[in-house]
Amino acid sequence: MAETKKKPQAEATKKTMVKSSEMDPRFKYDISKFPGAEKIALCFQCGTCTADCPIARFDDFYRPRKLIRMTQLGLKDRLLSNDVIWLCSTCFTCIDHCPQDVGIASIVRALRNLTVERSHMPAVYKELASNIRKTGYAYTIPNMRLRKRQETGLPSLPKANLESITKLFDVTGFSKTLEKEKT
Ligand code: SF4
Ligand code: SF4
Repeated sequence: MAETKKKPQAEATKKTMVKSSEMDPRFKYDISKFPGAEKIALCFQCGTCTADCPIARFDDFYRPRKLIRMTQLGLKDRLLSNDVIWLCSTCFTCIDHCPQDVGIASIVRALRNLTVERSHMPAVYKELASNIRKTGYAYTIPNMRLRKRQETGLPSLPKANLESITKLFDVTGFSKTLEKEKT
């Protein structure tokens, strides 16, 4: 009986074990080039960011302290294939409370950008981005809701400037990224 309990523990330990071949020593320097991510090396793993993060309270896997450590260690492939990085709500609580002034949310954003460059954008974000490009809104607002607004005397929703949105998508290269994601 005791042996069957030991096996899952051994599996978990194997999964969390880090091999030196997985570590990219350049990774933290690459990340530190992103705006707001410059102070990544200053993190001393106090854990304040995790203790105060609203997402970590509700999700067993999302731990900002751990993401920063993994980035410092250069565990690039593990990070860029992990959907957990998309859970950050960019509330900036971690940044406000970090004693080392580490831009945790900016580091997570940098990880997301690199993930998108690898064409690993989660489907839900692709959909949101496509909606914005097509309509100017992240969600398609059902006609029923629009009617309800009218009935309750609310003003019509502002019309999006689609020309400017398309231009923005094009100059930032995001149009191409979205096209690539479709393939
Ligand atoms: S609060 Fe700052 S120093 Fe502490 S673990 Fe988080 S990033 Fe590192
Ligand atoms: S910005 Fe992201 S990592 Fe920081 S506290 Fe908010 S949800 Fe957590």
